[in-house]
Amino acid sequence: MLSTMQDVPLTVTRLLKHGMTIHGKSQVTTWTGEPEPQRRSFAEIGRRATQLAGALREELGVEADQRVATLMWNNAEHVEAYLAIPSMGAVLHTLNLRLPAEQLAWIVGHAADRVLIVNGSLLPLLAPLLPRLTSVEHVIVTGPGDLSLLDGAAPRVHEYEQLIAGRPTHYDWPELDERQAAVMCYTSGTTSDPKGVVYSHRSIYLHSMQVNMAESMALTDTDTTLVVVPQFHVNAWGLPHAAFMSGVNMLMPDRFLQPAPLAEMIERERPTHAAAVPTIWQGLLAEVTANPRDLSSMARVTIGGAACPPSLMAAYDKLGVRLCHAWGMTETSPLGTMAHPPAGLTEEEEWSYRVTQGRFPAGVEARLVGPGGEHLPWDNESAGELEVRGPWIAGSYYGGADGEALHPEDKFSEDGWLKTGDVGVISEDGFLTLTDRSKDVIKSGGEWISSVGLENALMAHPDVAEAAVVAVPDERWGERPLATVVLKDGASVAYEELKDFLATSGIAKWQLPERWTVIEAVPKTSVGKFDKKVIRRQYAEGELD
Ligand code: ADP
Repeated sequence: MLSTMQDVPLTVTRLLKHGMTIHGKSQVTTWTGEPEPQRRSFAEIGRRATQLAGALREELGVEADQRVATLMWNNAEHVEAYLAIPSMGAVLHTLNLRLPAEQLAWIVGHAADRVLIVNGSLLPLLAPLLPRLTSVEHVIVTGPGDLSLLDGAAPRVHEYEQLIAGRPTHYDWPELDERQAAVMCYTSGTTSDPKGVVYSHRSIYLHSMQVNMAESMALTDTDTTLVVVPQFHVNAWGLPHAAFMSGVNMLMPDRFLQPAPLAEMIERERPTHAAAVPTIWQGLLAEVTANPRDLSSMARVTIGGAACPPSLMAAYDKLGVRLCHAWGMTETSPLGTMAHPPAGLTEEEEWSYRVTQGRFPAGVEARLVGPGGEHLPWDNESAGELEVRGPWIAGSYYGGADGEALHPEDKFSEDGWLKTGDVGVISEDGFLTLTDRSKDVIKSGGEWISSVGLENALMAHPDVAEAAVVAVPDERWGERPLATVVLKDGASVAYEELKDFLATSGIAKWQLPERWTVIEAVPKTSVGKFDKKVIRRQYAEGELD
């Protein structure tokens, strides 16, 4: 028997209309480097998004599900693109501006992007790349920038403000199928080639509801969220769409992502929430330790994308800022888990939950799979690969304009679950603890050593700023850990002391690294994660002693 409910599609268009009316007074504040930031209400953003859709359709002829790419920082115009492009039925494709030129050109070609919107400040990056972006017919430039850099370029160049000026502020939005493509984002390729993940209107709508739920980021119109995680990195973890759903004010750092301007914008604009990867919070901590600032408005921070060292959580607790650990991937939209402890615990009991990756919401089903394909129990001990499924989890990758969707065997199980490549344990009450990525785990003499476990223990040492541990080949054991350590300014410490420190932090004797090296900085990926590929290569090429 079918239900008697209306079958109304869940679309980004609905979020746009809702945000610009019901929450018309909420604001997007963009840092500009000027004495005053730029402030735009949701009503204004909505009107401008409507004008942008009109310009794309009428002036540039964008139709059906053609791809419109963005090469942009986090700012108001990028939010406008987030709303306009999917709502008109086209597909927004966010480009990771930190990728090497070759990968960017490949991704633009693979997605067949027809229009590209770029911040003026990024023209020096785009100009040399443009001749290779042969699918791009139009470039739209927002904000100040040296337009002469595009002289002689093949695509037509437009200025954003001129393009939208004077256009109608209403648009005949099409009736969309909620399963239609809305946004596409390529994985950042930490461990392999980029793969295109295509989000639907439905997945974005449902994910937005989850982001705002109290068991996730708990955001309402009384909040201002500082969106540090880039809009090109898994839709800024879903925050802009979720913000339009609930009227959450957004503070956008644009290109000012260094610790000093971040500290200044937090003190001046007083956001209540923020989201970013651990390296950002490491950098900010060093900054406010040297130059104290009041961060206390930012009571809640969502931290994820890489394991958060417990020592970092403890340091921020002292500043009145609570870091809440979350796990996710490009393929999971990204919200997969969040580590809010269950009710009724003491602070000490809560701690053992806070350091996990967190609990699965109802929309994410999880299972652990052992090396022989067997399903493992949730007993907080049996370690296996995490597989997930749900309405905002990818079921395939984009196969190109004329290609079939891709289902690589190492990424999807036969029964359609996403193989995350992450290894960990799950407790009886559904809290996930990741011990490693399957590619990073150290296989020593038939036993596994968690590189993350060693890193967290090392980063708890008062002289250690950062530490990355990788597996290196070993004749006797197969693999052994190599610890690469970045010391705090002016610190010096003997390896023996670090080893003793690890031993007293509960690391088993056979797991203690015998290979050590002090490095200047841990190499990072395009989204600020430890790039262990580079460390392994440096070691193989004898660059690390
Ligand atoms: P990439 O795979 O290119 O790094 P993603 O941003 O999709 O791109 O990264 C997803 C991966 O990041 C996860 O599979 C996991 O290995 C890691 N990750 C994300 N959040 C956490 C976390 N809280 N703790 C540990 N690892 C995490």
